[in-house]
Amino acid sequence: MANHLIPSMALLAALPSLPALAAEIPVPQVVLAIHGGTGDAKKEMTPELEKVLRADMERALKAGYESLQKGGSGLDAVEAAIRVLEDSPNFNAGKGAVFTHEGRNELDASIMEGKTLRAGAVAGVTVVKNPISAARAVMEKSKHVLLMGRGAEVFATKAGLEIVDPAYFWTERRWKDIQKVWKREAKPHDNKDPQAEVEAAPPHSWGTVGAVALDHDGNLAAGTSTGGMTNKMFGRVGDSPIIGAGTYADNGACAVSCTGHGEYFIRFAVAHDIASLVKYKGLNVAQAADEVVQKKLKPIEGEGGVIVLDAKGNYAASFNSEGLYRGYVTRDGKTHVALYEQ
Ligand code: ASP
Repeated sequence: MANHLIPSMALLAALPSLPALAAEIPVPQVVLAIHGGTGDAKKEMTPELEKVLRADMERALKAGYESLQKGGSGLDAVEAAIRVLEDSPNFNAGKGAVFTHEGRNELDASIMEGKTLRAGAVAGVTVVKNPISAARAVMEKSKHVLLMGRGAEVFATKAGLEIVDPAYFWTERRWKDIQKVWKREAKPHDNKDPQAEVEAAPPHSWGTVGAVALDHDGNLAAGTSTGGMTNKMFGRVGDSPIIGAGTYADNGACAVSCTGHGEYFIRFAVAHDIASLVKYKGLNVAQAADEVVQKKLKPIEGEGGVIVLDAKGNYAASFNSEGLYRGYVTRDGKTHVALYEQ
């Protein structure tokens, strides 16, 4: 459910007889929020990993905040924050992207501007170092919204973006993940050794990154970047580059970035649904986020989470997964980062 309850409300919400969801309030005065996906299983978290994740998220918040402080737009802040996370090997985006079934890295990203409803996205790119910048270039330098595969890569090259060898995206951690899956798939599933089955279970690595920002002119922006899901089929595209599914921004509603099981987020048009609840039903960002994540997605096991920010700086995060790596920075520059706690 949406996090950041004030303590007394949290206590009330814990009482079974009270409607927990109604007690939620958004965090005010937020200018930038980020997420780093639903993350690793809590039992696998180590103090060392937690430290580097938190440090990366702090750096991303700082990069975005500094951009806003310099008068940058919401788009600038979203791009700056996401690029930091893409360059880290610790998230499933850019450098740390997961592997497809064939052992490749295919990256997706999107960005949207709340004032104009302009948007850009790329899908299935394999050589673009920072897909979020390619998404922005599609928005600003082409007459299209979504470019995929080779076309997106040629476009990104012509736009002057940094191109890398596909091997750049190889990381030991993600390689081990896909090998685990391959091993599991090679074995007959006879259920004779349930423990071995559990140990070899496909890793839970939904570590997409995203950001939402509110700039000095009161304009919202949202962006999302991912390697998709471990073991995805060649050519599979998730929600992250789909405007209205993984990303949405409308000054008259809110900015949303999602992470989770993309197929559900596409089918439920999650980002746009949240924005519509704010715009047409007058829900606050916490209520709208919970309505979709807890009431619609959770019952059908559509696992994941969202971060949402409106044009007044009201922020909420909601997740039905074990965790949601996330953080935000308020107008006065104070940062907050959380991994699993609601
Ligand atoms: N939503 C992403 C996808 O389905 C994965 C994630 O968020 O981790 O591609």
